[in-house]
Amino acid sequence: MVEQLKQAIRDIPDFPKKGIVFKDITTLCQDPVSFQRMVDIMSHRYLDKKIDVIVGIEARGFIVGAALAYKLGAGIVLVRKPGKLPYKTHSESYLLEYGEDTLHIHQDAIKKGQRVLIADDLLATGGTAEAVVKLVERLEGDIIECAFIVELDELGGRKRLGGHEAYSLIHY
Ligand code: AMP
Repeated sequence: MVEQLKQAIRDIPDFPKKGIVFKDITTLCQDPVSFQRMVDIMSHRYLDKKIDVIVGIEARGFIVGAALAYKLGAGIVLVRKPGKLPYKTHSESYLLEYGEDTLHIHQDAIKKGQRVLIADDLLATGGTAEAVVKLVERLEGDIIECAFIVELDELGGRKRLGGHEAYSLIHY
């Protein structure tokens, strides 16, 4: 089943710049059977984990994050790029596979001790997820795990999650 989901992801060589093979999950998301299967398998892992909130990372992390939140009866918290969140924020800057960026979270998005699952489409170098881990830790959320549809194993991103566990549905 996971192998079928892997087939549904499209490789785009040299996007957004030369040397990067972009793992395009839009082809998985646009197929109803694949999308439902992805959400079902990922959410099943957390059914008994009493997750309070999912933290979704802009933008593709919102897709998987919102679907998991609905399935788990959890809230969805948005981590966004600069200038998008309207209320007071905390921010973290980070390097990613292709460039540099800053991410923000609302200062009141997570209450101390809430059980948090961080969600994104893909774990590459781990810089993005590392920044989000720091944001959640700043709000004293209890990080249960970081969940990804895809992980690029050889980039070793899971080592950068501040000692927290990572789960990925599909590995390359
Ligand atoms: P990183 O911070 O290096 O772990 O990069 C993860 C973030 O960048 C995720 O939000 C991904 O959506 C995006 N990303 C990085 N590399 C790729 C890739 N090869 N294919 C698709 N998305 C990627």
